[in-house]
Amino acid sequence: MGQVNCVVIAGAGIGGLCAALALAKQGVRVVVCEQAASLGEVGAGLQISPNALKVLRQLGLESELSQFVFKPQHAAIRDYKTGEYYLKSPLGKQAEARYGAPYWHLHRADLHQVLAAACAKAGVELVLNAVVIGYRENTELKQVCLLLEDGREFCADLLIGADGIRSKVREQMLGQECPIFMGQVAWRGVIPVSDLTVDVKPDACVWAGPGRHFVSYYLRGGDYVNFVAVEERSDWRSESWREEGDVEELKRAFADWHPEVSELIKSASSTFLWALNGRDELPTWHKGRVVLLGDACHPMLPFMAQGAAMAIEDGYILAKCLSNYALSDALLKYEQVRKPRATKIQQMSKANAGLYHMHGGVFGRMKLKALQAAGRFAPSVIQSKLDAVYGHDVTKN
Ligand SMILES: Cc1cc2nc3c(=O)[nH]c(=O)nc-3n(C[C@H](O)[C@H](O)[C@H](O)COP(=O)(O)OP(=O)(O)OC[C@H]3O[C@@H](n4cnc5c(N)ncnc54)[C@H](O)[C@@H]3O)c2cc1C
Repeated sequence: MGQVNCVVIAGAGIGGLCAALALAKQGVRVVVCEQAASLGEVGAGLQISPNALKVLRQLGLESELSQFVFKPQHAAIRDYKTGEYYLKSPLGKQAEARYGAPYWHLHRADLHQVLAAACAKAGVELVLNAVVIGYRENTELKQVCLLLEDGREFCADLLIGADGIRSKVREQMLGQECPIFMGQVAWRGVIPVSDLTVDVKPDACVWAGPGRHFVSYYLRGGDYVNFVAVEERSDWRSESWREEGDVEELKRAFADWHPEVSELIKSASSTFLWALNGRDELPTWHKGRVVLLGDACHPMLPFMAQGAAMAIEDGYILAKCLSNYALSDALLKYEQVRKPRATKIQQMSKANAGLYHMHGGVFGRMKLKALQAAGRFAPSVIQSKLDAVYGHDVTKN
């Protein structure tokens, strides 16, 4: 297999669009097929850590995006009732100096819009209302064709499956297997600051409590507060994996929490409820002329705020590999580079569920106390954990 001149991508999420832009900037012809009738991410926030920002910078998007961001001052973990800090690690200027890029909070819709505009400018062809049902590989013609529900086909040298956790491309490559419900649901919402009755700290804050946690942070220069409220549940009965959430149920679930949390929830007028799903590590991420990225191959619990960051890194590295190696070597190299990192962060995200939800009763609380002591007496231990995630620079390595 030689170099690629034309790539078709299933899915115009953050991962698919980043890969499309990186490839188009290398002179590759790119077609992206998206099932939605129009582009636009569901209204919620996204934490973009320095490792992801370095990719967005390299793709030429930093200055355009910077008008929409909020820069948090700390990453904090606080007690759900007393508000006591278990962790208060500096972000802001300190993180920027340490990692060579700032830590941002962004509205998903802003990132998506800027990415889509950059893709259009770089000549990426976006096909909407394009529901992918599978693909067909033709080894003789050295091409792969993406098949749509309406009978259309898009053929190219390579197919990238960036179609999320329920990826049709993954299904054909590796067989039908439902995602695993991770025993957690998440309410998400965005509240205008003008509606708030409490003062929210300018931090990326996790409120840890038994069987639950609550995340709050500012968006769009501080005009909005984004929240994610996570609760453990034994099952998810709805057919859909996302539905409108019941604000009253959310208020009840967090009623006895610290006033900063309960008052914040009181200001929420609407919310969406998500089932949090995952998958076991896949045996491979590529086969023939087909490769996966982002949630299609490594969905993770959002408890490190790294799912989109990993999809962004994937897209960049995949494009780099394709520019440096012949196709089969490029796909092999891509998986060799990306899989260990994404798998590690998947595991770290899962482990954070235990920490944030005080698993193990008294023992769970002791773990948070140990974190607090480490922050005071051995901050380098915590720092080295964060360095491995935020200090990673795929644009250099
Ligand atoms: C509550 C919550 C909070 C999170 N917070 C963060 C955070 O702060 N920071 C962070 O980095 N990550 C976060 N994440 C994770 C992040 O949202 C995902 O990892 C990321 O969006 C994955 O991007 P993706 O492009 O791989 O997939 P997706 O965003 O799922 O995009 C897939 C695209 O493919 C399209 N598609 C799907 N099927 C088809 C089909 N059959 N045909 C055509 N198109 C199709 C979809 O419409 C979609 O546009 C969070 C996740 C959750 C649930």
